[in-house]
Amino acid sequence: MVPIEERIRQLKKEKNAVILAHNYTSPEIQDLSDYVGDSLGLSIEAAKTAADIIIFCGVSFMGETAKILNPTKTVLLPEPDAHCAMAAMCTGEQLKDFRESDPDCIIIGYVNSTAESKKEMDLCCTSSNVVKVVNSVKGKDVLLVPDMNLGAYAASKTGMDVKQWRGFCPIHHGITVTQVAELKRKYPDALTMAHPECRKEVLDLADHVGSTESMVNVSKDSECKEFIVLTEVGMRYRLEKESPGKTFHFLDHAVCTTMKMATPESVLNSLETGRGEIILSDDVLSGARDPLARMIDLS
Ligand code: SF4
Repeated sequence: MVPIEERIRQLKKEKNAVILAHNYTSPEIQDLSDYVGDSLGLSIEAAKTAADIIIFCGVSFMGETAKILNPTKTVLLPEPDAHCAMAAMCTGEQLKDFRESDPDCIIIGYVNSTAESKKEMDLCCTSSNVVKVVNSVKGKDVLLVPDMNLGAYAASKTGMDVKQWRGFCPIHHGITVTQVAELKRKYPDALTMAHPECRKEVLDLADHVGSTESMVNVSKDSECKEFIVLTEVGMRYRLEKESPGKTFHFLDHAVCTTMKMATPESVLNSLETGRGEIILSDDVLSGARDPLARMIDLS
């Protein structure tokens, strides 16, 4: 019997497919993938791939983003029910209503949004480039959706009055000051890194605030040997791989179950049968492309 990883590799070659995976996916998926990264890196990689088929291991807004950037390619989400809880907190209809009530306000949307929402935005951003994107419209009224914590972070870094939506990531928003204080007490020599989806009072306790990709770089460059990492636990695998010999402490409950849904079996199934194809209307594809393209141009 040919091992599953080998069958995936053969099929990928036959069908000219590429596998992209987010940093929060399981180690088996990361090992199978051609590229592992954060939302910004994945968007850029999706925009430049020469493959005919993109297998996206992550949640649905990521597969949709890849499809928007590659409308003529086939994009497959091995687990079609893997959705982001935060993306569901801001709909396209709500943004249309907001636009009518405040037509001059620039709507900046975190890439963690549905394709219908992206269609109503002026610009997209990720946690890597949010400060740059918000600064690019300095002097204008800005609404940032859907993550209120990312909105507050952008406001604090740019000095702008960024209006915030009431959405949040349940995993990052669930990290509390008490939990972080306990980790810091246990590991007093550790450098603390936090994702900007965490609450402001948690970010205030961190030595570094940034995207998952920035955490990889900080851990590689720092002389520190021990880190407290305030983000989803899947990040441990990448950090340990890229900074061997260093120790990373996480909060064990910070688990995004939908990010863990893709398995080697579901990837193989998608490659064999086309299961999980992302289909978007022409209207959504064309409307959502510009906000994403503007973000990539700024990156
Ligand atoms: S970690 Fe949070 S923002 Fe990321 S996919 Fe899961 S619910 Fe969405």
